[in-house]
Amino acid sequence: MVTKNRERSLADTLDYSLRESCRARNVTLKVNRAQGLVVVVPEFFDRTLLPSIIESKRHWIENQLTRFDSLPGKFDCDWPPDRLDLPGAGIFVDVHYSEISGERIRLKQREDALEVGLPVTYSNENLAALFVRWIRSIAKKSCESAAAELSAGTGLLYNRLSVRAQKTRWGSYSSKGTLSLNYKLVFLPRRLFRHVILHELSHSVHMNHSAQFWALLEKVDPDAPAHDEELNQAWKYLPAWLD
Ligand SMILES: [Zn+2]
Repeated sequence: MVTKNRERSLADTLDYSLRESCRARNVTLKVNRAQGLVVVVPEFFDRTLLPSIIESKRHWIENQLTRFDSLPGKFDCDWPPDRLDLPGAGIFVDVHYSEISGERIRLKQREDALEVGLPVTYSNENLAALFVRWIRSIAKKSCESAAAELSAGTGLLYNRLSVRAQKTRWGSYSSKGTLSLNYKLVFLPRRLFRHVILHELSHSVHMNHSAQFWALLEKVDPDAPAHDEELNQAWKYLPAWLD
């Protein structure tokens, strides 16, 4: 018997990416802005079961997807960027795009411009990832030289520097003397870039936020209270496509 006009299940109509994970025990559904619905299945999972699983979560999935639709997209504004300004690092470049053959995006830094060669088919995600890689290499160098210079100027020491992508913090200082800085600091004005480094370096003396800590920080950064206040708003300097 042929069933006609059967209601198409969500799994038939909805695009999703499938990922197999050897650590997964159950099927999990995730919705994120970049990829939409992502279905993670354990190894050797019987995939013919997926349509009914997805169908049973239809409401949840649709709610999640609508929620993302109402947020401004990561690539909605200032994309692709025609400038990259990294005041923290003192680097300001125009970005020029040209079409190239082949499949890989090419990025080349000239004096005051980035030359980007784009294949006919390229993805925003790939282009953003390439920018991030370039920005991280700039950040590493400028954090290294600023940390060394500020440490020498103040006598506040660190053992090791790590420049990382931190989700919620601009920096940290560990009891072992590791100074960790967020690579996104290069998007901040130079005064805030320096302030964060001085804040973390002051933890080499006081591993807390006591009155003594703030007094020390103000000694090495006289405008510390104003900078600290300004830092609360500093996420606005980061472009939406960054992560
Ligand atoms: Zn602190």
